[in-house]
Amino acid sequence: MICVPIVGPTQAQALIDIAEARSLADFLELRLDLIADFDLQVLLKNAESKVIVTYRPAREGGQCTLSDEERVKILLDALRLGATYIDVEWDAFHLIPPSSQESVIISRHFFHEFPENLEEIIESLSQLNAKITKLAVKVSELAQNARLFHALKNKKKPLILLGMGEEGLISRICSRVFGGFLTFASLSKGKESAAGQISVEELLHRFRFRSHNQDTKLYGVVANPVTHSLSPDIHNAGFGELGFNGLYVPLKVNNYQLFMQELAPFFSGFSITIPHKENLFRYAKAPSDLLKQIGALNTLTAIGHGEWEGKNTDILAAIAALEEVIVDRSLKDKTVLVLGAGGASRAIVIGLLKAGAKVTITNRTASKGKTLANEINVPFISLEDIHLMEALPYQVIINTTSVGMMPNVEESPLPGVRFHKGQVIFDAIYNPAKTQLILHALKDGATCLTGREMFVKQGALQFERWVQKPAPIELFHKILDKKLG
Ligand code: NAP
Repeated sequence: MICVPIVGPTQAQALIDIAEARSLADFLELRLDLIADFDLQVLLKNAESKVIVTYRPAREGGQCTLSDEERVKILLDALRLGATYIDVEWDAFHLIPPSSQESVIISRHFFHEFPENLEEIIESLSQLNAKITKLAVKVSELAQNARLFHALKNKKKPLILLGMGEEGLISRICSRVFGGFLTFASLSKGKESAAGQISVEELLHRFRFRSHNQDTKLYGVVANPVTHSLSPDIHNAGFGELGFNGLYVPLKVNNYQLFMQELAPFFSGFSITIPHKENLFRYAKAPSDLLKQIGALNTLTAIGHGEWEGKNTDILAAIAALEEVIVDRSLKDKTVLVLGAGGASRAIVIGLLKAGAKVTITNRTASKGKTLANEINVPFISLEDIHLMEALPYQVIINTTSVGMMPNVEESPLPGVRFHKGQVIFDAIYNPAKTQLILHALKDGATCLTGREMFVKQGALQFERWVQKPAPIELFHKILDKKLG
């Protein structure tokens, strides 16, 4: 269930927010300590839904300055006026008369640390006669969510267990999957009642919260940073479109070993991106020769007994996309110039060589370009020499540098170069959809491939591995166009 906190700051605003939140939430939480001039009777009358009333003291992160006795008196009034539950802090519970204890959510907060004895705390709170136990803890390392998931699975009575901070976000999104009594979501950005609280709109639409149950399979994107990732948008929408019982979440991984040991066992698969493509390679069971040569992957799929199958769908996507547009539909013996010598270049060049292409590398930093060229035994040409040529004698030109990427959309890695009909120009950049390089190449009549096509295809290959059905490619494109323009 979803509970939207009503945080004021005035009675008038609280009433406006109640009217908006009613249709979105299963519960409303009236945070009396945050509503300056509250009239409890009017608030409860207008709520027209299940309500939790909370009057949080400063020691538990709230703003109420009354004594515990005065606070509890108002909370008991709330029950008489029709509140479904009252939230009572663990150290004030003794003030609640036995006749009202069945309507209490007993709560405890750890704003600055993840308690080492989490399970003991839950156990001791659960022994009291409150109806529901609530614990909110600061999560500073993603793997700590595993302790929350285990505790939820092993609960003996209704439990609300939430991680605070960005690293705790997944505990809020996955609450239903692990049988949490409810999760809190803000009415909109800026109306959060705790750090890391997700908005109700994002929870309902981006993460499809209402569709989750305890059989939902978990997936995610392993990255750092991860907030910008569009993978949750496309995969969750795709799961919805195909009626697949899956949930895909952002995973901001700092310590990847701890992550793989503690949290990964809850998941069925991952997309992997910067900076973990090489780090997680070691977890792939029996990697293919191609994967071994690349030494980096972007997909792990659980295959049972704690083992993972590794794939690099970036390469598969890039090569497949090229083969779809190239003459004869084959890269064999085609001359290809690759701009850049970073991770994307390395992987694409290895894929091209396997497909039989004749590859030349160029790069701004010649030493890096030469190192890569020597390692995989292909020629290197300096960028200065490339810039001296008006037209480039290659059938395929691939940009794997970040030149032309948002926000520097006016830049091109090959300014002034002329392209021609029959030439294939591929820019790995996916934001913007059409870079300066692509716009020039289209004007010159070349065949163009955008990074967006590669991004959609690499995601589609992951999706198909997990869902075992064709991915809704058009939907993926639509989502990216909507998000990125
Ligand atoms: P990376 O390892 O950091 O490599 C960046 C490359 O860009 C290096 O060769 C670097 O040259 C070059 N570069 C950066 N700024 C430059 C400048 N101002 N002038 C000339 N060269 C410059 O990054 P990566 O992981 O390979 O990613 C590269 C690009 O591929 C990014 O735009 C990324 O979004 C894109 N990509 C797209 C997909 C997709 O699905 N579409 C997937 C993966 C990557 P130096 O060696 O001289 O620094």
